[in-house]
Amino acid sequence: MTNCPLCSGKIARDTKMIEYKYKDHTREIEQSGDYCEVCGEGFLSPADLRQSKKELADFKREVDDLLTGKDLARIRKNNHLSQKEASELFGGGVRAFHKYEVGENTQSKPLDILLRLIDSNKITIEDIRRLYAPHEDQNSDVGLSVG
Ligand SMILES: [Zn+2]
Repeated sequence: MTNCPLCSGKIARDTKMIEYKYKDHTREIEQSGDYCEVCGEGFLSPADLRQSKKELADFKREVDDLLTGKDLARIRKNNHLSQKEASELFGGGVRAFHKYEVGENTQSKPLDILLRLIDSNKITIEDIRRLYAPHEDQNSDVGLSVG
């Protein structure tokens, strides 16, 4: 793309600061894209939008006192979990952690609290695995004890 479909002006790669407002907080987020040098119209690719969407999601999470995508990835990696393993352990679908980390979804407050407890070593991944491990005596020990 070299010319603007709106005004035929020249289009060039640029990064502009876009102001976002959320709950009385304001933040300028960089938006890379192809911009018309004459009318200023922006032409954004899916990759351009992905980056700003991630930063926008983190801005909202910071305002809401939730862990950011970076925090989530750090805690997950510190505990040697892949995105898939973390999603299986905490629920929300196999791509849940991928979505949280790229800002496509926001984690719930209870999950956020749990991850903070894990991060401060108050709970371990092993504690959680023990709580939700399949009961090994499921078949051998079922029945009423009469006595
Ligand atoms: Zn233009």
